[in-house]
Amino acid sequence: QTSSSEHKKYDVDDSQWEAISTTEGPLLVLAGAGSGKTRVLTTRTAYMLTEKKIASNRLLLVTFTTKAAKEMKKRMASFSGITERDLQTLVVGTFHSIFYKMLMHHQGALWQPNKLLKSDWQREQIIKEASRELGIDEKEFAFDQALSQISYWKNHILKPSKVRAETDWDEKVKILYERYEQTKQATQHFDFDDMLLGCYELLIDNASLLEKYQQRFSYILVDEFQDINKVQYEIISLLAKKTQNLCVVGDDDQSIYSFRGSDPSYILNFETDFPKAKIVTLNCNYRSHHSIVSSATNVITNNKKRKTKKVVAMTENMKRPLQFYPFDEEEEATMIVTDIKEKIENGARPRDFVILYRTNSSARAIFERLVASSLPFYLEQDGEAFYRRRTVRKALAYLKLSLYPDDQEAIKELLGAMFIKQSSLRDLKALSILHDCSLLEAMTKLTDIQVFQQKKIKKMIPLFKQLRNFSAVEALEWVEKEMGLSDYIKKNGNEGNVIDKGSDDLRDLKVAAASHDRVSDFLIHVDHMIAKSKELKGRPENEDSIQLMTVHRAKGLEFKTVYILSAVEGSLPHDYSLEAYREGDLTPLEEERRLMYVAVTRAMENLYISIPQKRRGKRAHPSRFIREMNTMI
Ligand code: ATP
Ligand code: MG
Repeated sequence: QTSSSEHKKYDVDDSQWEAISTTEGPLLVLAGAGSGKTRVLTTRTAYMLTEKKIASNRLLLVTFTTKAAKEMKKRMASFSGITERDLQTLVVGTFHSIFYKMLMHHQGALWQPNKLLKSDWQREQIIKEASRELGIDEKEFAFDQALSQISYWKNHILKPSKVRAETDWDEKVKILYERYEQTKQATQHFDFDDMLLGCYELLIDNASLLEKYQQRFSYILVDEFQDINKVQYEIISLLAKKTQNLCVVGDDDQSIYSFRGSDPSYILNFETDFPKAKIVTLNCNYRSHHSIVSSATNVITNNKKRKTKKVVAMTENMKRPLQFYPFDEEEEATMIVTDIKEKIENGARPRDFVILYRTNSSARAIFERLVASSLPFYLEQDGEAFYRRRTVRKALAYLKLSLYPDDQEAIKELLGAMFIKQSSLRDLKALSILHDCSLLEAMTKLTDIQVFQQKKIKKMIPLFKQLRNFSAVEALEWVEKEMGLSDYIKKNGNEGNVIDKGSDDLRDLKVAAASHDRVSDFLIHVDHMIAKSKELKGRPENEDSIQLMTVHRAKGLEFKTVYILSAVEGSLPHDYSLEAYREGDLTPLEEERRLMYVAVTRAMENLYISIPQKRRGKRAHPSRFIREMNTMI
């Protein structure tokens, strides 16, 4: 190691020190997971404040999540010489939080918090209304995906007029995008993407303001730079243009947000825009045990598009990552919760554990098992996410109506499932009074619908009574095959819809239903889970709890023990990447591999990978990444 006393003081290695002490000029730290990139950022900040005496308000630190920003402030506070005042004036935050403050400061009237469209639901309302006006489609449209497409365009600084639609679906979404922007303008609302765009425009349009900020933020540091998108990059380059004091750290192997418009070429081509950039690589992994590091390296080496990196694990322990083979998702959840419980009884702390999964809906079984246990756990996203999915809601509505034929919410879902307009509910209410029957029976009296729909309803309504006598799974089968839900799934699945596959959701639902004999028991269970999840959502995060999150969310974090759920083909790698692969497009599969790499590298000591034999009621095959993990190339 080195003799520099400053160097020792910070407990860092030579390469890390180089990155920390190079405070002037553009600097890129490109290095693998767990090599101390984030640690370099915090230490560098401390060094600049305490040794270089740079005023804390001249620094700008950008993190990827609010959680990371909090963590960074906490770490800052632990360095000696950092004052309370430093901590207060230092700007640390996500792109959104930093730039929103900037907008509030200069154009406060335009950016009032009550005008922010916070939830997807609010944004969905706008394009739903637009789609009705435009008569785009009577039936259900994949609005959530339309919204993420719109967001993708906005992050690429593409105004509606600049969008080149390649498919029919794109064309429709483009029109919705136009209307969405108009509506927002008319009502003076704005969304999260507007914050970035607004800030970009503010700086582009006001030369003197830009100059002011270039001076104010004369040192900029960005973490997780591989996931920066165009608008974010443009703002950062504008700000850093004068002083060139831009330090970015990242790992191209951890670029996992391309669906949101993040683009690793900004990190890979950093020297093009900043030709004087110094590049530092970090080769030691301080986080994970040797065998975990080598498993991760073995997997990621299979990606063709990447910068090769050298990594040496600093911890010798040879405890190998463990694979286990539960029968299905239910047993997977039981095994994991039992294992954690045992470890906690033997002295482990709940916060040592994280359970990672590919998509939110996969958390269903584990969430339910944890609710049943008395273990403290935290789930940032809502646990009922699964029961709120479009197809799942529809399927449950059939079951519900078999017991409660006047349930309005369920009737609305049924109308949706049959592609009958929602306003028919009003007619149904009138008809049910007129004929003294339930809302469900009133459907047979609907006149304002097509003849084939009338016929379908006549055949279907009597079947509801029988549902009650079936087991929950049988009832779902019946709903699918005899009562027309399969028609809905077929029609609804084709609208540019790659992720939200109704048939998969229905299979997941059957797995969930399998442990309940009666329809009514299952429905009670579902309601209980939804209520429980709402209750947990309102609660502040308990510092010492088991964490549940998607791999995406886990980026940058580390845990002593990591469980990876469902490492099977179709889940990780996700189905859509396999479809693309069969059509000759390797890109999505490479992103899935990066996800696996991120998941594996979260573990410090113990890594458990679950490979269920059955998933969604069908035989599952171990993920190709498992094979890659175990073979050196
Ligand atoms: P990721 O790519 O996953 O974000 P990273 O490169 O940001 O990882 P850090 O989180 O900064 O890595 O560091 C990983 C772990 O290694 C942390 O616990 C950190 O404190 C520790 N660490 C980093 N450098 C050193 C060092 N020189 N000596 C001891 N521990 C270190
Ligand atoms: Mg990091």
